[in-house]
Amino acid sequence: MSATIIDGVAMSRALLEGLRAEVAELREHYGKVPGLVTILVGEDPASVSYVTRKTRTAHELGFHEVQENRPADISEAELLALIGRYNADPDIHGILVQLPLPKHIDETRVLHAIDPKKDVDGFHPVNLGNLLIGGEAVTFRPCTPAGIQEMLVRSGVELDGAEAVVVGRSNIVGKPLSVMLGQKGPGGNATVTLAHSHTRDLAAHCRRADVLIVAAGVPKLVKADWIKPGATVIDVGVNRVGFNETTGKAILAGDVDFAAAREVAGKITPVPGGVGPMTIAMLMQNTVRSARRHLAAENGKA
Ligand code: NDP
Repeated sequence: MSATIIDGVAMSRALLEGLRAEVAELREHYGKVPGLVTILVGEDPASVSYVTRKTRTAHELGFHEVQENRPADISEAELLALIGRYNADPDIHGILVQLPLPKHIDETRVLHAIDPKKDVDGFHPVNLGNLLIGGEAVTFRPCTPAGIQEMLVRSGVELDGAEAVVVGRSNIVGKPLSVMLGQKGPGGNATVTLAHSHTRDLAAHCRRADVLIVAAGVPKLVKADWIKPGATVIDVGVNRVGFNETTGKAILAGDVDFAAAREVAGKITPVPGGVGPMTIAMLMQNTVRSARRHLAAENGKA
């Protein structure tokens, strides 16, 4: 039987509707709306496309939304100064620097320059440290892992005691996600395996998974016979595998052989239309929550 599709578009729409109501409430209560600045360096087509989707969504939600586009040859000092300006801006509650940055800029130094209280991507070491501690300490969950966790919970996937296998150990997806799924509490309590390019017999690990999350950036890495019948499969991969001359758009494929995998899995996410829209929704949620914290503190209610 064909797997149930986990529809990231529909799920994100519901989430954004809730956020729209929160924006209206903040406006009414404080006379202010969440403020998000997106900083894009250079003109990499994928980055431009991601930033456009983020700013469009922020705009639709009624945020105070600022776009800072800078040429690829901007110096690191100039970029750090730009971040410093928004760290000090009381109307901005979230700062997003689109990655990757050009080679001459130290990405780590840039991400560390963002005020952790405005780090809506959740990449600052303070926020990653709090994520590791878990519970009340968590301020910002990184957006892609948060979107995945939200999808699993909203789809009614049983995580408690489940075998979860995460393929890929990047700082922005696999590593934080593996921590989140293993935390004590709702949306966690899974037994997590974190696999990567040095993992021996990846297929065998995947076959054990009740919940399989793939974030490797390798098209069709996971085959249908790597999937346990009935398992939930979350495909994070976004691979540009061609170009459609008619639509003028890139042809995208995930890290899972979707057509074959959907005949084995119980639930599966498509690419596109799965994790991507949820990532953006979680960025918006982080910004709304940040605004709420900042505005409450400014108004002496924190
Ligand atoms: P990275 O390139 O930073 O990390 C890839 C990870 O996958 C590494 O840990 C690597 O192992 C592992 N890996 C690579 N090849 C294999 C293999 N053959 N077998 C096992 N493990 C392998 O990628 P990201 O985490 O940034 O992104 C992963 C994918 O997810 C990409 O396609 C990206 O475009 C997509 N993505 C999608 C998002 C969305 O919102 N939909 C958001 C972010 C990313 P090792 O560490 O050993 O090198």
